[in-house]
Amino acid sequence: MDSNQAIDLNAALARIASDVAPMVDTERVPLGAAQGRILAEALRATHPAPPFPSSAMDGYALPAPVSADLSGTRWRISGESAAGHPWTGAARDGECIRILTGAAVPDGFTRVVLQEDTRRDGDVILISGQPDPRSNIRPVGHDVQAGEPLMPQRQRLGALEIGRLASDGVREVSVYRRPRIGVFSTGDELVDAATTGADLPYGCIYESNRATLLALLKHLPVAVTDLGNLPDDAQTTRRELDVAARSHDLLLTSGGVSVGDHDHVRNVVEALGYVAFWKLNLKPGKPLAFGRVGNSWFCGLPGNPVSTIVTWLLIARPLVLHLCGQPGSEPVRLPATLATPAEHHAGRTEYQRGCFSWRPGQPLPVVSILGDQSSNRLATFQGANCLVEIPAAVHDLPAGAPVTLLPLAGLLD
Ligand code: AMP
Ligand code: MG
Repeated sequence: MDSNQAIDLNAALARIASDVAPMVDTERVPLGAAQGRILAEALRATHPAPPFPSSAMDGYALPAPVSADLSGTRWRISGESAAGHPWTGAARDGECIRILTGAAVPDGFTRVVLQEDTRRDGDVILISGQPDPRSNIRPVGHDVQAGEPLMPQRQRLGALEIGRLASDGVREVSVYRRPRIGVFSTGDELVDAATTGADLPYGCIYESNRATLLALLKHLPVAVTDLGNLPDDAQTTRRELDVAARSHDLLLTSGGVSVGDHDHVRNVVEALGYVAFWKLNLKPGKPLAFGRVGNSWFCGLPGNPVSTIVTWLLIARPLVLHLCGQPGSEPVRLPATLATPAEHHAGRTEYQRGCFSWRPGQPLPVVSILGDQSSNRLATFQGANCLVEIPAAVHDLPAGAPVTLLPLAGLLD
């Protein structure tokens, strides 16, 4: 691949996937500390769930076949099985037991009649009307049998997965080590709000990309270092990238990767390692450099704040998750209909900020484009819940045109 050639998003993702090996180092962590981590082992259920036949309802357990017509029959109550307090007696003809949801159904009891289908008179119940014809008993292993797959390797452990593993009695899991990621911003014009006085010097702006990236990375299973801001100076850039590469798995920068007189990052990366590509057929986000610095991967995002965020979503986030041990974490795509016109010049695939909604009866969600889409305007993300993908080949699109949207839900937190 000629690194000076502009490539499509898919080619960029494919190159990253072929160059970067997902994490192999693992560590064992208590289940309670595993949230957000990526499972390094395939797990099978060690217990059947439920471990005993259990009642799905509050009612009465009967030693009667499911098919039997019980309407109008009477049964004497000879005991009770409650959740956590199983009944230990034996089933006898004409006798039932009171049973509660989640309680063990003792041997010999084959059917639970719902409380609502009975009338109780002291120690006896009368089955009224036509009772629910189902057994209302959850058999052993109804959820999962012992030995069945419980969770695949490379599963990200969210709340649902933590709960499922807890339900099998899992105490500890093997997860991939957190990759160490260092984040730089670049640019002589950038000022950290936290470290400057009240007045912003003329010609300067407040730094926001590093702040955004650090916040986005907080939610991923990575160990992040804030490496500060690099000046627009080749020597300092070279020294700092070289040093940082020794203690990180990935260096993430923003700005300084284009063709400006003071854009030094790409040349420095080329000198210290290699640049696989640095031009994408994307808008916003044309200059994006991927490569290697010493022993660390390198991803140089474009400087305009909207470009930084869009390329984070499309490329850097999948790269980070791939490195973490979870390949294939690209955003999902949905078909939608434009509610507003979209301006677009043919040439590069464009990702505009939009807000979509869906109403019952509509065949597809409808999506509005959120104002002037210039890549410096963080305002275009205000109220956005998706990116709208406009293919390279098309021109302006009218309201009503079919488009593809990429929901932001789950990608920013
Ligand atoms: P560059 O790619 O370095 O030429 O930056 C492109 C534009 O993005 C310039 O207007 C920069 O001032 C702006 N920019 C670069 N980095 C940041 C940052 N960390 N925070 C806010 N704006 C930035
Ligand atoms: Mg710059």
